[in-house]
Order: sequence, then structure tokens, then C-alpha cells
Amino acid sequence: MSAGVPYIVCKDVRKAFGSHEVLKGVSTQFCTGQVTTIIGASGSGKSTLLRAINRLEPHDSGSITIGGVEVTDDARTLQAQRCEVGMVFQQFNLFGHLTVLDNLTLAPRRIHRTPRAEANERAMALLKRVGMQDHAHKYPWQLSGGQQQRVAIARALAMQPKVMLFDEPTSALDPEMVQEVLDVMRELARGGMTMIVVTHEMGFAREVADRVMFFDQGCIAHDAPPAEFFANPANERIRSFLRRMS
Ligand code: ADP
Ligand code: MG
Repeated sequence: MSAGVPYIVCKDVRKAFGSHEVLKGVSTQFCTGQVTTIIGASGSGKSTLLRAINRLEPHDSGSITIGGVEVTDDARTLQAQRCEVGMVFQQFNLFGHLTVLDNLTLAPRRIHRTPRAEANERAMALLKRVGMQDHAHKYPWQLSGGQQQRVAIARALAMQPKVMLFDEPTSALDPEMVQEVLDVMRELARGGMTMIVVTHEMGFAREVADRVMFFDQGCIAHDAPPAEFFANPANERIRSFLRRMS
């Protein structure tokens, strides 16, 4: 794979909830084709950063750009950016009243005005990719958690995003379902997708990521390739975090 170019650039991003500073000046960039895992204790600001990239949570100061375009409240820009940035949450968030197939085709039909037949055809190809083609006409409640999360990934991909953000995609799953979701993510990474993955799955970070970022109290405390990150933890906070994870 060619070396990526910076795609999402964060400069001194700050965010507070009341007097609680949750992001304390985060500066970093995510390049095309790169898989970044973000790890760190609960409450360290990982979700807030992902949500700020997607403008689900506006930051207070600093800047975030996606493909050179700043993330602001401008509605048209934001809609275009949200098409470029797919997001997968811990709690799947599928539309419960829609079939799997309709979950995948809703946004392409409404936002991209994709004709139904074409949207269906694309959706079926994506469901095949995540091993869910035989469940297209089921409703979310008829699926296991792992199956729902695979559908959620396919649904995000249906918008043909340029980057995928994952916020603890396997944390709500029964242990026996974690692997099937990680396998889908691994395939996505292999296909060259730019990914930012908040996770507690150290195996995934180690084997799939190009880069491991450690969040500590609203700051990026360390950022290194996985081999280096795990072989030689930079400080005692990381060592103790890794001990708790293993
Ligand atoms: P992480 O994902 O690393 O666990 P978060 O980014 O979710 O951390 O949260 C960081 C801190 O911000 C936590 O202390 C959390 O309670 C607080 N927080 C997050 N969202 C909100 C909100 N909408 N209102 C108030 N506090 C929030
Ligand atoms: Mg979180």
C-alpha cells in the first residue's frame, strides 16, 4: 500500500463539559489507508474525539479538517462529511423497525438518491462481504449481537465512506461473538480502508493496526506502531493499563 496522505487533521482540539476538560488540546493526523487503534482508560476522551470528528459533539476550540475541509456546523458541508465518515457504535444502533436490507439502503436512497434496485444490489454485495446475505429480510431483533454489529458495519459501508470510525464495536458483545466482528474489521483493513478504532481488543491493535494511540486524561499520551508500543510501553501508566487489559 502506498504511504497515505493526511486525511483527518486535528489541531489543538479542546472540549469541556462544564468545568471538566475532556480533550485538552489534541493534535494528530490520520492518513489514508492507515489503521489507528485508540486505547486508554474509560473517561479519557476517546469517544469524545471520535464524536467531534463526526460533529456529534462540537469541540470548543482548535480545528478538525477532513480532506482539507474544516468540520463546522455548516449543514451542507456536514452532510457531505458524514457521508465520507462512517461510524460504528458499541450499541449497533440499527433501525429496529426496518429489515436488514432496508437498514442498508435507507441512507443511500434518501441522501445519494440511489435507485432502489441499485441500492438493493449494492446492499446485498455488502451483506455478503460481512457474511450476512442470508439474513437480508430479517429484523434486527431476530439477530445475535455479533450479527447486528456486522450489519451495522455493512450499513456504514453502504454510504461508501472514505474512513470508518469504530467506537468499541465489540464491547457490548458476548465473548463468543467478538471474533466474527473483528474478522470483518480485519478484512476491511486488509482492503485498505482508513480506520480509527477505539477498542479494548489488544490482539486487534497488535495484529491489525498500523498505529496505537494511548489516551490519558484528554491527551494523547503515546502514539507508536504496535510492535514498539507493546514491546516497550512508554511509561508506567501504559504498563499498568496493559496489565489490566490482559
Ligand atoms: P472514553 O470514551 O474514553 O471512555 P468519553 O470521551 O466518553 O471517554 O468521556 C470523557 C469524559 O467526558 C467522561 O468523564 C465523561 O463522563 C464525560 N462526558 C462525555 N460525554 C459527556 C456529556 N455529553 N456530558 C457531560 N459529560 C460528558
Ligand atoms: Mg468511550
